[in-house]
Amino acid sequence: MTGSTFREIRHEDPTDPARRQEILESPGFGRHFTDHMVTMVWTDQEGWHDGRIEPYGPFRLDPAAAVLHYGQEIFEGLKAYRHPDSSIWGFRPEANAHRFNRSARRMALPEFPAEDFLSAVELLVAKDRQWVPDGDEQSLYLRPFMFAEESFLGVRPARRIRFCVIASPVGAYFSQGVEPVSIWLSTNYTRAARGGTGAAKCGGNYAAGLAAQQEASAHGCDQVCFLDAADQRWVEELGGMNLFFVHDDGLLVTPELTGTILEGITRSSIIELAKEQGLEVVERRVDIDEWQRGMADGRIREVFACGTAAVITPVGRLVWDGGEATAPSGTSAGPQDSVWGRLRSALIDIQWGRTADTHGWMRRFC
Ligand SMILES: *Cc1c(COP(=O)(O)O)cnc(C)c1O
Repeated sequence: MTGSTFREIRHEDPTDPARRQEILESPGFGRHFTDHMVTMVWTDQEGWHDGRIEPYGPFRLDPAAAVLHYGQEIFEGLKAYRHPDSSIWGFRPEANAHRFNRSARRMALPEFPAEDFLSAVELLVAKDRQWVPDGDEQSLYLRPFMFAEESFLGVRPARRIRFCVIASPVGAYFSQGVEPVSIWLSTNYTRAARGGTGAAKCGGNYAAGLAAQQEASAHGCDQVCFLDAADQRWVEELGGMNLFFVHDDGLLVTPELTGTILEGITRSSIIELAKEQGLEVVERRVDIDEWQRGMADGRIREVFACGTAAVITPVGRLVWDGGEATAPSGTSAGPQDSVWGRLRSALIDIQWGRTADTHGWMRRFC
């Protein structure tokens, strides 16, 4: 397949430029969508076909569509960044394309060729380029996804699948400057077990985490941290972000990938940047006891979470059933005096084109 795989269906009534400008001034997160979307269909008979770039709008979905019953679905999340010269770039989109296919294999979905993933995303960004905001830390969030569209209630991999990419302008995650988040340690729920879907980016993982998120909110916390399912002892990750710990000897520690943790692209980029900044990085198991005690006695100086949406978020407080520990001094230090702050600056400077991309991470969309 090539770029011409996607046939253009003209939009008769795109958003009024004044209205678009109003949205771009204060986009929020995931509330507003651009004028177009890219779609494609897969059937076991024909493979991938009927690629389109068409007006954004609802699907006609049969009530028996398998995704509504058995949740056969995956997604990705990445951003398009407007650089100072107004060109628009993606951050490691090839990594998203490959992860999408790892998720597809786990959920018995057909793979989507990486070059088509990239051209679908590129096509949508180019078409809706006026929707890419230029404010501080603003971007166009891209959401490729794939789901079982076949109408059939039997339990087997669906034979008709839809791929789609939509785009949403998003503002700075922290509108008032970066604020430390509080985390609820979930012991009633786990996110992923060995052999399960923890390493796949699928909607089901998020659905399974919502009750834990409600529990977190009820305890006044922003996010949930999950422990491993087998021993309820090893720190895994938050519902949608990976975790890092800065030790007092300068060591940067992150839970190793065990098959139950989602392999974040932000996580792997931070590991590389930290090494360049002279930090020693260790991927290993992290005992929850080590975190609780380390926060209290200062052995752990900073804790932060990372993911595409918020980039890096310092953790200010860990709360559990029967206790809590508050931010080690490093977390509350200003961005310039902290490890998380320096890593965050290094990463966003690359993404928004303010510094040289020495890793070849950026890909020009248009
Ligand atoms: C998407 C996601 C992340 C972060 O991945 P990035 O590629 O850095 O955005 C972390 N954990 C979970 C469960 C996720 O779904």
